[in-house]
Amino acid sequence: ERANRLLDPSIAEGGEAALRPARLEDFTGQKQVRENLRVFVEAAKSREEALDHVLLSGPPGLGKTTLAQIVSRELGVGFRATSGPIIAKAGDLAAILTNLQPRDVLFIDEIHRLSASVEEILYPAMEDFQLDLMIGEGPAARSIRIDLPPFTLVGATTRAGLLTTPLRDRFGIPLRLTFYTPEELTGIVARAARLLEFDMTRDGAHEVARRSRGTPRIAGRLLRRVRDFAAVAGVTPVDARAADAALNRLEVDQLGLDAQDRRYLKVMADVYQGGPVGVETMAAVLSEQRDTLEEVVEPYLMQLGMLMRTPRGRMLAPGGWKHLGMEPPRTYTA
Ligand code: ADP
Repeated sequence: ERANRLLDPSIAEGGEAALRPARLEDFTGQKQVRENLRVFVEAAKSREEALDHVLLSGPPGLGKTTLAQIVSRELGVGFRATSGPIIAKAGDLAAILTNLQPRDVLFIDEIHRLSASVEEILYPAMEDFQLDLMIGEGPAARSIRIDLPPFTLVGATTRAGLLTTPLRDRFGIPLRLTFYTPEELTGIVARAARLLEFDMTRDGAHEVARRSRGTPRIAGRLLRRVRDFAAVAGVTPVDARAADAALNRLEVDQLGLDAQDRRYLKVMADVYQGGPVGVETMAAVLSEQRDTLEEVVEPYLMQLGMLMRTPRGRMLAPGGWKHLGMEPPRTYTA
């Protein structure tokens, strides 16, 4: 169990839907992704064809689900959502596919977690809009082929590296999302504050933004918590100082690190003299899931120049030593 769930972007919470931008023009940041999608969506619309399949990859909370919904709205087609772990059997996927309307968007979150048998029926569905199903068992088994309406698969994954090559190769439009800049996030926080009818200065929005780990989901969550503190304290409008006070109370530090991140860095420094140390070991020592470390904790520490992944294991980078206010041991070579 993570000590402070506040900064875990893989957990969605209520209230998010209200902050979701509905159109491409309302979607801030990810400029290249946005521009590419705009072109491909326009082209598909003018040809009256289904948009090519889209793969969205990147850390949790950056807007993959939001973009998938936007794509269907911009195309003017229906939207169906499911996820890799939910589709247990080939028949589950077959039921979804045969119920699609022409050109619909089918969103599959966590697509790297599809089972091999489900993936196999997805290949001809993506490539030729055909479904090959086995009916019956044993000697009586036979295969039937069903034509599907043309559709667009939008897959999302936090771990593009875990996708099988044949699956990855079937996406004509692979797009990678990256952490947002503080400026982009400031815009997102300011917009969210407006939608929540919460009086906040630009400086206040910037303070929340720069402590949100480059992640809109975290920015939205911190904004709602800051709003609670401000309401109790009776502060309005909320400026940088008021936001700072609230975030300190929430134990979110100046760089957006929480107690768990600091503990990660401290264990690396104190117990392993900066590493190298394997991720399994870190997971065991911190009583944390390996996946959480790899998908949530480490990407942001690496982005900040505090951590390196090397073939020998994790190592503290100069920024990590600095953040701890420590010097690396003399024998330390990163
Ligand atoms: P993912 O699917 O990548 O985990 P989501 O699409 O669910 O992320 O986004 C998480 C939250 O962040 C949602 O509430 C969404 O409204 C918000 N969000 C994501 N990207 C943006 C953006 N570019 N502008 C404004 N809000 C965003």
